[in-house]
Amino acid sequence: MFNNVDEMISYVEKKEVKVIDFKVTDLIGVWRRVSITSQKLNEDIMKKGIGFDASSYGFSTVEKSDMMMVPDVKTCYLDPTAKVKTLTCIADIYQIKNQTFSRFEDDPRYIAQKAEKYILDSGYMDEILLGPEFEFYVLDHISYENKNEHMEVKIDSNQAEWNMGKSDVQNLGNKVGNHKGYHIDSPLDASYDFRTDVVIAAEEIDIPIKYHHGENGGPGQVEIEVEFASIVEMADRTMKLKHLLKNMAKDQQKVITFLPKPFSNECGSGMHVHIQVKKDQKFIMFDEKGYSKLSKIAHYMMGGLLKHARSLTALTNPTTNSYKRLIPGFEAPVSIAYATANRSSIIRIPGYTLDESEKRFEYRSPDAMSNPYLVYAALMMAAIDGIENKIDPSKLGYGPYDVNLYELPEEKRNKIGSLPKDLLESIEAINNDYEYLTKQGIFTKSMIDSHNVKLRKDHEALAKLPHPYEFELYFNR
Ligand code: GLU
Ligand code: MG
Ligand code: MG
Repeated sequence: MFNNVDEMISYVEKKEVKVIDFKVTDLIGVWRRVSITSQKLNEDIMKKGIGFDASSYGFSTVEKSDMMMVPDVKTCYLDPTAKVKTLTCIADIYQIKNQTFSRFEDDPRYIAQKAEKYILDSGYMDEILLGPEFEFYVLDHISYENKNEHMEVKIDSNQAEWNMGKSDVQNLGNKVGNHKGYHIDSPLDASYDFRTDVVIAAEEIDIPIKYHHGENGGPGQVEIEVEFASIVEMADRTMKLKHLLKNMAKDQQKVITFLPKPFSNECGSGMHVHIQVKKDQKFIMFDEKGYSKLSKIAHYMMGGLLKHARSLTALTNPTTNSYKRLIPGFEAPVSIAYATANRSSIIRIPGYTLDESEKRFEYRSPDAMSNPYLVYAALMMAAIDGIENKIDPSKLGYGPYDVNLYELPEEKRNKIGSLPKDLLESIEAINNDYEYLTKQGIFTKSMIDSHNVKLRKDHEALAKLPHPYEFELYFNR
């Protein structure tokens, strides 16, 4: 929004902004905030930043935990959900080494900036266009009850009771059944008014929206797609959009969840990422003669992504719940393969992209539990690795597989190569394959290690927990 600190300070004075909110993305991709009133605003704060304890953000060890958050004035925007006039600014993290300030190498936003620079400097492309799709459930009220037999989730708005694996819809009037939510119209599309409010507010804070609609997992699942942008810009937009959605939902007595698999019998929520690139202002992913009209460079990009798919999963699917989504039968990817118009493979080339300006593919594994700075950066680092090493996906046996991979006998499917089945496999995969990320100090091993510590902790905590379903299975044995 601003070119420099002076511009920002005079805006605050002129427009009578009351509060300035600094947002920093922590390791798992959640915004933390520190706020000041405009009375406290001065050049020093904006240039030198505010000190904080980075160890609480999941980053560093306690003995070197003092860091600074320094706002990036280009990112400031008026937060439409704040109760008083609030200017929100995304901040970068600086560390103090030998009594001087420098960028903190593990800061996800810095990693994204480093990756973007590396890729654009490579000479293979001069524009990166990422298009994420945000799937999530909109619920009026959610309560978890442990009845010693099932984990039960009640969705009051829909008068439906969801048990493990089965739903019992009491009253069908204006209600959406299982798997029936895709592109539904009013009055069935219960969250339409909420979404309309959100997308209008989003565009006012520079998040252009492609479209939004009801998604398959009925009742309650929806999708919003954001217009294409490069790595850092798209990660900033992702953080802003998630914040907007959660806060507007709260104001309207709703709650949204990006949990990848909230209901066992319904579609999970993904965050597919469409990828397109340009060089000399021309799209370079199209070739009339290529498979699915994809150019050689597009094939190499897919090759890199498929080769590194298992290790990428540690970043793209970083929760215990993420792996409950990646199963056959719910339009989520299971196999490390590419194909046209195929939702069972990890890379789908949309069947309706027939010309140069449209030609692209989507990488389907990510979910919105992930840190968008790390995910967008890692996907493009894998893609550029494919170009640099001319990785041909068909030679490595990744396809094209124009068949329903869910329906293949498990043995055959396993031969194609599957995604990790839990966090432990993902941790192992990234520990065996991270050089494409850490080259030139873009990702750091210390960041990957801290990330793995968190994943392992979650995995172990859940593994130790008696599950309600175990009562059903074993209580009376
Ligand atoms: N919800 C599905 C998933 O878990 C994707 C559905 C779609 O193709 O849009 O990835
Ligand atoms: Mg979708
Ligand atoms: Mg998609």
